Amino acid sequence: MRRLALILLGSLCSASVAAANFDFQFVDAESTFAQRGWMDSSSLFQRNFRAAGVLLGAAIASDQTITVEVRADANTAHFGGGLNFGLDRGLQQGLHVLEPGALTRVLGGVRTNTPDIVVTVNAAFSEQWYWPDTQPETRGGVVPQGKTDLISIVMHELVHGLGVSARRSFDTATLGQYYDNVRIPYDLLTRFAGNGLPSENGVYNQLEFFGPETVMTNGGPLKLTYVSPGNREFSQNFSHIGDCSDALPYRTTLMNGCSVPVDGSRLKLTPYDLGLIADMGYPVRSVFFADSGVLSTAVRLEGVMYGARLQRVDTQGYEFDLVNTSLSNRAESEASFDSSSGTLTMNNLTINDSPQRYNVVMKLVPNVSNLRFTLHSATLLP
Ligand SMILES: [Zn+2]
Repeated sequence: MRRLALILLGSLCSASVAAANFDFQFVDAESTFAQRGWMDSSSLFQRNFRAAGVLLGAAIASDQTITVEVRADANTAHFGGGLNFGLDRGLQQGLHVLEPGALTRVLGGVRTNTPDIVVTVNAAFSEQWYWPDTQPETRGGVVPQGKTDLISIVMHELVHGLGVSARRSFDTATLGQYYDNVRIPYDLLTRFAGNGLPSENGVYNQLEFFGPETVMTNGGPLKLTYVSPGNREFSQNFSHIGDCSDALPYRTTLMNGCSVPVDGSRLKLTPYDLGLIADMGYPVRSVFFADSGVLSTAVRLEGVMYGARLQRVDTQGYEFDLVNTSLSNRAESEASFDSSSGTLTMNNLTINDSPQRYNVVMKLVPNVSNLRFTLHSATLLP
């Protein structure tokens, strides 16, 4: 089925660009997978993992294969995503820096410590609350109310496995301190606002991610999750984007720190998530997400859009993503793409073809009655 999924994706993208592959090994020492038929490679469970891997892999311009162990673990609360270390970079900025294994792999380095990523699964919880897409290769099923889309969950955990996984303490007494000597690239791009310390006069200073791609997308450093002890999202601190009290766009990102959606919506890679991945050192490219699973010249945008990235990849084809749907406003707008003329039209905005490569990040100004885009930033690529 993997082969089929890859072929399908290839036919969706008009340009052939390398995409990272995720190879999943399912490990079931406690037999909670087997009890549910999940050790069968044709099960919806495994197909959902592979579909998530295809979606995420398509964002990474690499022909490497990232290895993932999916481990049955009744001690995990829900799902967990973690990483094994890769290349030891030695001292950077006076700190001992290790690469996530997946990054080493993608960059073509030697890996001896496998798998690159470990996803732990509480099978009983997953069965009760997470809905495996019935058409995972196209994300074509209808997410039932009260359940969370499994592909969203798997993609989220895989991004933790890529390295969105802070090594800072969020316990009150040691807030913001590193709990050991090891840093990963993500850590090097985080800092506390204000005077740079976790708190100032007893008030928490926001931890921010200041990688350049992310800053370009967001218009400034990106706020990372911090909630107080006792909050149900406490375990999300520092390794997620924003928090539940934030306005859009934070809470629609794949890596948001709020509760997972149970309203029928899905999480997708947004430009904010892609910014984190790119800033950690992964070669990221824009991805076309087809909600319906069918690539056509019309792309349906649901709700208020906050971020979009358009990237011309060669003279033959275009890829772009239009992501980040509002959970509350279901008003719809449409964008159309004319592949013969190379023109993307969104409401009043038209970007015409150009002989040069370019990379445009746009931000939509939310306006309930009249959706419109503003050009947020544009960079000409060499
Ligand atoms: Zn998470």
